[in-house]
Amino acid sequence: MIAGAAIARVAAREAERFRTLNPRAFAHHAAAKGWFQAVPFHWMTDWPSPVPIVAASARGATLTSIDGQRYDDFCLGDTASLFGHSPQPLAAALAQQASEGLSYMLPTERGATLAERLAATFGLPLWQVTTTASEANRAVIRWCRGITGRAKILIFNGAYHGAVDDAFVDLTAGRPAMRASLVGQVHDLTATTEVVEFNDEDALASALRRGDIACVLAEPVMTNIGMVRDAPGFLGALRALCDETGTLLVFDETHTVSSGHGGHGVTHGPRPDLMVIGKSIGGGIPCAVYGFSAAVGDHMVALNHTRPPGHSGIGTTLSANALAITAMDTMLAEVITPAAYDQMLRGAARLVAGLEQEIARAAVDWHVTQVGARVEFLTCPTPPRNGREARAAMQPELEAAIHLFLANRGILLAPFHNMMLVSPVTGDDQIDRLVGAFADCVSALKE
Ligand code: PMP
Repeated sequence: MIAGAAIARVAAREAERFRTLNPRAFAHHAAAKGWFQAVPFHWMTDWPSPVPIVAASARGATLTSIDGQRYDDFCLGDTASLFGHSPQPLAAALAQQASEGLSYMLPTERGATLAERLAATFGLPLWQVTTTASEANRAVIRWCRGITGRAKILIFNGAYHGAVDDAFVDLTAGRPAMRASLVGQVHDLTATTEVVEFNDEDALASALRRGDIACVLAEPVMTNIGMVRDAPGFLGALRALCDETGTLLVFDETHTVSSGHGGHGVTHGPRPDLMVIGKSIGGGIPCAVYGFSAAVGDHMVALNHTRPPGHSGIGTTLSANALAITAMDTMLAEVITPAAYDQMLRGAARLVAGLEQEIARAAVDWHVTQVGARVEFLTCPTPPRNGREARAAMQPELEAAIHLFLANRGILLAPFHNMMLVSPVTGDDQIDRLVGAFADCVSALKE
């Protein structure tokens, strides 16, 4: 247990140090009057530093700021750059595509190759492209409701699936409630979203057996409330219950693509009826995909026969533009390879071993979780089994102090998590620097 006074002392000292190291970031921030809150996108204010670091460029797993600071980047754009910043084949392919047209609203030959690669990699035969993972999740929910004629979906407590209104329902004191932080939501989402705890097979069974749930939308391992691993047998039970009740199973693999080549479903099972993957699939170019089984495809065709032509409510103009197709095709052909995963998993194992050693050495009651190339330290003794436990284990002040301490030593972690991503181009030296800085941070907190 780290004392509150120690956290406040470290946080104040590190905020001061950040000011000294980053004068240009402060000047930039003061001058950026055209942006609301001085940033082009409000999430950028969520970093724990007094002002956000201002990026100059990034390559591989290293990011450089306008203050000339170099960072070992374990945030990697919060997964968008999981396979490294600007991989050379991607940069070259994008440059080529940039001079050949960017958005035609027409299929291309390259698109046909991409569809084959998606099927071969992720094990589902049919695919559609969207611009973000949020949008893919919204599309999938709509299709599932349309196909089954059921209004409700089911999610797990503490889930995050992007800007997807239906997924902003939590269990608060055991009851479904809309996430209190939502802006401008006027519909009662609890009417059509069921929520149960992850790993609670009984609650899942009774919700699904009511027979009115279109789909379960789930990460196979929760990654957005800290990481919560599936208990042995839980995902198998989820698959079986969906089959028994005619409920479609959707895996949102936007983050769990870190589990292994083909994502968590291909690596560990079970296989979903539909899956979504965004962010890293385009190496940082905005695009995402959803894939589905042949049976789901047949149902979609049948559904299309029952509705008049016109707006489906699915899709946006820039979806599947030529740049996005080129990005994904290049990433799957040349960057997101089994060999890349070998590197990532080897690096992640080194990171886990290093962090666990330092936690033991410092005798703090923390632990480390890992989902393939995604590693997380949690400042509690045992792994949470569900969203409620994970939420209760969070210590925002402590976590912010650690993040800032690490940033001041040239290590970047994703702002909303204690999550560290190991890319195929992350060096052992970078991993060792992170472990060393983490150990120094724990020592400082224990002083
Ligand atoms: N699904 C999951 C599991 C995510 O973590 C996120 C974003 N963190 C999304 C979907 C949405 O991705 P995007 O913000 O790129 O739409």
